Amino acid sequence: MTKYIFLTGGVVSSVGKGVTAAALGRLLKERGFRVSIQKLDPYINVDPGTMSPYQHGEVYVLDDGAETDLDLGHYERFIDTSLSRVCNVTTGQIYSEVISRERRGDFLGGTIQVIPHVTNEIKQRIGLVPKATNAEIVLVEVGGTVGDIESLPFLEALRQMRSDLGRENTAFIHVTWLPHIGATNELKTKPTQHSVRELRSIGISPDVIVARSDHPVGDDLRGKIALFCDVEPRAVIALTTTSVLYEVPLLLEHEGLGDYMTARLGLESRKTPDWTAWEDLVNRWRQPRPQVRIALVGKYVELQDAYMSVREAVRHAALAVGVEAEILWLHSAELEKGKGWEELRAADGIIVPGGFGSRGIEGKIAAARYARESKVPYLGLCLGMQLMCVEFARTFLQSEDANSTEFDRSTPHPVIDLLPEQRGIGNLGGTMRLGLYPCHLAPGTHAADAYGQPIVEERHRHRFEFNNSYRDSLGEKGLVFSGLSPDGRLVEIAEIADHPYMVGSQFHPEFLSRPNRPHPLFKGFLEAVARRAGVASPAPAHKREPAAKA
Ligand code: GLN
Repeated sequence: MTKYIFLTGGVVSSVGKGVTAAALGRLLKERGFRVSIQKLDPYINVDPGTMSPYQHGEVYVLDDGAETDLDLGHYERFIDTSLSRVCNVTTGQIYSEVISRERRGDFLGGTIQVIPHVTNEIKQRIGLVPKATNAEIVLVEVGGTVGDIESLPFLEALRQMRSDLGRENTAFIHVTWLPHIGATNELKTKPTQHSVRELRSIGISPDVIVARSDHPVGDDLRGKIALFCDVEPRAVIALTTTSVLYEVPLLLEHEGLGDYMTARLGLESRKTPDWTAWEDLVNRWRQPRPQVRIALVGKYVELQDAYMSVREAVRHAALAVGVEAEILWLHSAELEKGKGWEELRAADGIIVPGGFGSRGIEGKIAAARYARESKVPYLGLCLGMQLMCVEFARTFLQSEDANSTEFDRSTPHPVIDLLPEQRGIGNLGGTMRLGLYPCHLAPGTHAADAYGQPIVEERHRHRFEFNNSYRDSLGEKGLVFSGLSPDGRLVEIAEIADHPYMVGSQFHPEFLSRPNRPHPLFKGFLEAVARRAGVASPAPAHKREPAAKA
C-alpha cells in the first residue's frame, strides 16, 4: 500500500515548502524507502514551458522532457532520483483532460462538475506517481497558500484521499511562517493558527506543523502552536532559516520529523539514516574558501529564481573545487548600453545561460567576444552556446551580420538555425527538442576531459541548433565540435581551441548537477576560473595544453 504525505502552505508563499518537501523526501530515502515527490500547481497553464521566467522562475526539465516547476529541481537535487512527467500536475492539465473527455462523450450526458469530475481527475493523477516511479511513499506538495481560491479543488481531492485510503496511509503537513515583531522581539503564532483554521474549515486537519522562521523557536511557542493547532508538541517542527540550503534535511532530522512521519504512517525504517556525507558537505560549505567571481550575463537577472539550477550548479562545482563563487548578476541589455563592463572585467569567469527572444542578445554576444579575446573562462548554456558560435562566426567570417535565425531571419550567415523537425511547428507548448539525448565526445577536448567518459546523456530544451553548413569553415578557424549526437548530425557541445576553457553546450547541464555530484562541465569551468583567479593548485600538464581540434 502506497503511503501519501500531503504538504500545504500557510500564511505567505515563498517560505520554502518545496525545499521542505525535498528534504523530507531525503529523510525517508535515508530510511531505506523508495520516495517520489509530486507538485500540484493551481494555475491554468498546462505547464510552465510557455510562461515568462519573470512570472514563474526557472522552467526545470526532466529526463522525459517534461517542462516543470522549479520545485522539481529541489526535489531531484535532494532525493537524487530522476522524476517523471507525472510528478508535476497543473489545473490546466486537469481541465483540458476533463474537457476533452466531455467532448468525446465519455460522461454519457452527465453534468461535469468540480466535484466529482475534477477532483477524480486530480486523484487519478496522484495515483499515477507510484505506478510511474515505483515509489512506496509519495509526497505531494500543493502550490500556493491555503485560502487561495484556485487551490480548493486540489485540497478537496486530498481530503477525499484521506477518507479513501485511511488515516494510516495519508498524512498532512502544513508549512507556515512565524513573523517576527521587532519592537517586542517576539515570534507570532496567530497567522499560523488562522491558516490551520482555514484548512480545517475545508475538512483537513494537519498532522504536523512545520513552523518556518528567521529566529529560533522556544518550547513555549511550540507548546502554543501544538495547543492551538491540535497537534502533538513533537509534531511541531521548527525550521529556522539557514544560509546553507542543504542543511535543511539535517535540521528536520534533528527536529525528529523523519521518525515522526515513519511512526505516523506505521512504517518501520529499513536502515538507520547515515548523514555523514551530508554533514561533511554542509561543514565544507561553511568553511571559508578562496573567493572567485563569476559573471552571469542574463536577461532575467533581477529574479534569480529564473536561474535557480544554474546558481546551484555553480555552488556544487565551487564546493568540489574548494572555492567560493560570488555570482555577479549582469543584465545583458545593460552591457549593450555600455553599463556593467567594469564588473564583467572583474569576473574570473563568465556564464551565458539559456534564454529566448531578442532582448539583450547583443550584450551576450559582446560578453562572449570579450571572454574569447581575453581568454576568460566561459560556459555557455544552450543560448549561451549558440551565441558563442555566432560571435565566432562574426569574427572569422568577417561578417557582423552572422546570427541565429531566431533573432534575424534574413541573416546572410545563419550559423544557428531551426532544427529541421522544428520547421512548421505552430504550437508553442511542449514542442521544443526536450529531454534526455545521448552525446558522443571527441577525445582530447575540454569536454571529453571534463567528463572523463566517451558518451553522456543530457537534458535539452531548444528549437535551434548549430547549422552544419558552417562546420567546415568555422572548424578550420578553431571552433571545436567536441560533442555530437550519435549520428553526428547535431552539434551538442562546441568549444574554442587554444583557450583556457570556452565551452558551450546545446543542452542544459545545470539540471543534472547534484550537491555531492557536481556537473563535469561546471566543475571544469570552475577549475579554469580558480586557475585564472590564482587560487588553484597548478593544473596537471595535459590540462594546460590547448584543446585539440575534433
Ligand atoms: N532560444 C534558443 C532555442 O530555442 C535557446 C533555448 C535555450 O536557451 N533554452 O534554441
